[in-house]
Amino acid sequence: MSATSAMTDNAMIYLDHSATTPVEPRVFEAMEPYLTANFGNPSSIYRAGQDVRRAVEQARERIAALLKAEPKEIIFTSGGTESDNTAIKGLALKKGGGHVVTTSIEHPAVLNVVKWLEKNGFTATYVPVGSDGVVDPDEVRKALRPDTLVVSVMHANNEVGTIQPIEEIASIAKEAGVPFHTDAVQTAGKLPLNVEEMGIDLLSLSGHKFYGPKGIGVLYTAKGVRLEPCVHGGHQEWGKRGGTENVPGIVGLGKAAEIAMSEMEADDNRLRGLRDRLETGLAERISDVDFNGHRESRLSSVANVCVKYVEGEAMLLRLDYHGIAASSGSACTSGSLEPSHVLLAMGIPAEIAHSSLRFSLGKDNTEEDIDKVLDLLPAIVEKLRAMSAFPR
Ligand code: PLP
Repeated sequence: MSATSAMTDNAMIYLDHSATTPVEPRVFEAMEPYLTANFGNPSSIYRAGQDVRRAVEQARERIAALLKAEPKEIIFTSGGTESDNTAIKGLALKKGGGHVVTTSIEHPAVLNVVKWLEKNGFTATYVPVGSDGVVDPDEVRKALRPDTLVVSVMHANNEVGTIQPIEEIASIAKEAGVPFHTDAVQTAGKLPLNVEEMGIDLLSLSGHKFYGPKGIGVLYTAKGVRLEPCVHGGHQEWGKRGGTENVPGIVGLGKAAEIAMSEMEADDNRLRGLRDRLETGLAERISDVDFNGHRESRLSSVANVCVKYVEGEAMLLRLDYHGIAASSGSACTSGSLEPSHVLLAMGIPAEIAHSSLRFSLGKDNTEEDIDKVLDLLPAIVEKLRAMSAFPR
């Protein structure tokens, strides 16, 4: 039994780590005292408060180390969504008007912020992607205007795992004097990050995507980048984000960052092996499957596959019956019958996009888990295809 499977339902094969991850036992252990004995408010001047303050600042240092940033550049938020909102709205509201450059495959936490800005007098360009889900930096260059106030391009896509050439895009933004924001919710803790070398001005990350707790995230804000706060309140986070700190969450996030730094490379290699085993097996055992996302430049943990002539949701329900949890799109969009906006943006026809499945692997997965999927899915597909009214 792996470390994290101790925290999950042992009967379940969990293959949806891009949606969320279990809290690592070492993370839970680090958090526990701050849910019980160490409950002080970090703003209090007596010892019980100052001990907690030290824990918050240690976590900030750990996150800074993960990003190769300065602790003062780390702002704690309630998660990826708030970080994306604060970065983009924070710049937009500071300027009071202007133009946003983003891409057509962003998470709703970015897309819906930009749409809201458009309703409120701002303008936006949604840069398209190729069939592999990659943003062409030249398209970003072409989209820039004298009034562009931010370029926001995600580091890796949550549905297909494609990793974007963000260093190149960041340097294009820098040449134009425009701040560059990246949603790194799917890469923080999984890929090495160096905000200075990569030219990143603003970066969003979220604890629950890399074995930390839910409801905690970070917005890295480079020195000199000025934002209008989105959460007004007390003086916390240097007045950039009001509200008493989520101390257990912050401590857990710091611990998750520390673990990620030492285990990232080994995890990455192991997950790539499992992911390749899964993809090779699916291609061998099921006809008419297409794999989505760039073949090389993508997360080692994600396999996104279209199993033609079968509804993704139907496959998911049958997998769930056998105790396997996967996804047919991003967690936030599943439940809607709309095909994935990411697959559509990659030029995949709607009827094929409907047949997509996303397996996202994590620390707790084993070869046996993958082999169980390979044993079960071909028969599920065969049955569903036999009764499918899908056009062929
Ligand atoms: N951005 C990306 C790329 C994501 O995958 C997610 C979560 O699915 C978010 C933002 C939102 O993060 P959170 O759940 O912490 O609000």
